[in-house]
Amino acid sequence: MATVHKVKSGESLSVIAQQYGFRSWKAIYDHPSNSDFRKRRPNPNLIMAGDEISIPEKTSKAVEAGTGKEHTYKAASGKQKIEFLVTFIDSLSLTDAVPELTATLSLPDGTKADHKADTKGTIHLVEPDISSGKVDVVNIWDAREPAIIRYGKYATWGLSTNQSNVVRLPDKRKIINRIASKHGITRRSTWGKKTVNYLTMDEDWDYTTVVIHHSGNGGETDPVAIETKHMDERGWDDVGYHYLVRPDGSIYEGRHLAYKGTHVLGANSNKIGILMMGDFESQWYDDDDDVSAAHMSAAQALVITLKAEFATITKLGGHRDYKTDTECPGGDLYSQLPAMRAATGLGGP
Ligand SMILES: [Zn+2]
Repeated sequence: MATVHKVKSGESLSVIAQQYGFRSWKAIYDHPSNSDFRKRRPNPNLIMAGDEISIPEKTSKAVEAGTGKEHTYKAASGKQKIEFLVTFIDSLSLTDAVPELTATLSLPDGTKADHKADTKGTIHLVEPDISSGKVDVVNIWDAREPAIIRYGKYATWGLSTNQSNVVRLPDKRKIINRIASKHGITRRSTWGKKTVNYLTMDEDWDYTTVVIHHSGNGGETDPVAIETKHMDERGWDDVGYHYLVRPDGSIYEGRHLAYKGTHVLGANSNKIGILMMGDFESQWYDDDDDVSAAHMSAAQALVITLKAEFATITKLGGHRDYKTDTECPGGDLYSQLPAMRAATGLGGP
């Protein structure tokens, strides 16, 4: 039977976990019996005196997300039950949404198979004989929409038998949708003419930096022209930038934010790429475009939202800050980046 603990003034989850002999507060907080509690207290650091928390029995064990650790176990041979619960969190709160998740699991005998989660996010696995070795999560898939989202980064956890394995994943789709609806962003699936190859692109979600670009000499202001350039001429899997902002301030979704962009040669990791459409560098043969107020304020508002959604984003730079032989984002736009930093609260590159 689970014990119920009433929080006293000054108690933290860590203190409570210690009291009951748990090595990590996550074992208590992440336990399925505390799902209502998590909704009420989405920030584990902010619990209140008088809160009631269920203390799970000690056989339950939460697997920490993203550690990449593998646990090996030795268990009695025979039927072993493995439960694998996927809980989604987004950057603001825990979410109830249980998507159609599939996890690819690899068993000690080397077999690999896809397992679909039930409507509660749990994957049940009963294997006839797992006497030693480990069960690894090779990948987790969220395939609710054509834009498949992979959680491959969370691979290689060893799962424990006859215990509850809990993983917490960021609800990337929900976060991306929220950003899109806030800014009236035209989705890639709406304007794109070509099929994106999600299977071969790298994932990214560890964003620290926003990089501003311009279209360059071509001065393209039509997203389809960029799609043609990147996918037809360069043979990429998708448009290289995550967002494309047109001079009138309308924003188009480029590469799905769950995937690493292609916009800073050799240094794309952790960078969100925003294209300010137009040519903002003067050449002897053509004048540069003016950066309109609508253009700047739309890009700025988007950056503010990105910063709010990703606590890890602290820097804003222009393409030339990361690659010396490019004019991008053009002198006129580049000179406005300090003002954009001031308005968004971000630091330099
Ligand atoms: Zn650029």
